[in-house]
Amino acid sequence: MTESELPDLGIHRIPIPIPFPQAGGPVNVYAIEEEGGGVLLWDAGLGAPDAEAALEEGFRRIGRRLADVSRILVSHGHVDHFGAARFVQERHGGGLSVQVHPADAGKVTEAGPTWAARAPLYSAHLARLGVAPEAIRRAEREGERSFSFSRRLPRVEPLRDGEVVRAREVTLTVRHMPGHTPGLVVLHDAEHRLLLAADHLLEKISPNPLIELGPGGEPGFFRPLVSYLDSIARTRALEVDLVLPGHGPPFAGHRAVIDRLVAFYGKRQERIRALVEGGPRTAWEIARELFPKAREAETFLVVSETVANLEVMEARGELRRTDVDGVWRFG
Ligand SMILES: [Zn+2]
Ligand SMILES: [Zn+2]
Repeated sequence: MTESELPDLGIHRIPIPIPFPQAGGPVNVYAIEEEGGGVLLWDAGLGAPDAEAALEEGFRRIGRRLADVSRILVSHGHVDHFGAARFVQERHGGGLSVQVHPADAGKVTEAGPTWAARAPLYSAHLARLGVAPEAIRRAEREGERSFSFSRRLPRVEPLRDGEVVRAREVTLTVRHMPGHTPGLVVLHDAEHRLLLAADHLLEKISPNPLIELGPGGEPGFFRPLVSYLDSIARTRALEVDLVLPGHGPPFAGHRAVIDRLVAFYGKRQERIRALVEGGPRTAWEIARELFPKAREAETFLVVSETVANLEVMEARGELRRTDVDGVWRFG
């Protein structure tokens, strides 16, 4: 199975430009032909004018219109994946169902918490991780910017683990793979050995385990990398010939990619072990050693990546955290 055979299965990849270089290139929307002439959308792309224009152009290329969309399945609650869902609903003329896993529904719906409500909780958490005040302010600005690329939806329907989605040529089973976000799902076509993996498995970049606080700002509500390593082990066991990722072209060899990824995290944890040998350090201190070249705009990303690894090491009993005057140190 190669990418050129996908149209025979009624699957069309539409790359959509996005302004986040660290995401791994344009985001992929997949248009999947349904029985009876409809088109199922797996993700919708970003809610920005050029992204929406690229989506319409992609539909023109495959000889379809957005009015043909029959339903939208959202892989996870990141703006580059659901941001244009409302635009598609409007083009379609209303009544178009959007499904997302319940654990990510709050990120996608109007009823979910706003950026303004969440920002103070995240800033307080970054302070607890030892991040300097000016870096926290940068992270706030960056967060606000990314929130601007979507319009939330009035309502969504649940998309649950084990649900079977039947399209014209393919039968897709929904698999909940928490990690990159709490509610990320992938679609597995066991017959054609395809995996629509979204950001769960990308060929060239690791999937950015981001800090996720609980409804009241509780830390430890979700440990992204602990969950991810469990999910990716389940993904490794799936029979897959071709991965259709959320960014970049389709690729084969999912087990080799997963093994490289697990080894990569092992190495990163080895580095952290060496960094805390001289005594406990904050996540921010460790992050700056691990990512000396990170751009200022990437503060939240690099701190998240660091904490995610610290949580894995903590879960294995390799280090522990101490709280000194409201700031955590790991060692
Ligand atoms: Zn994502
Ligand atoms: Zn993405």
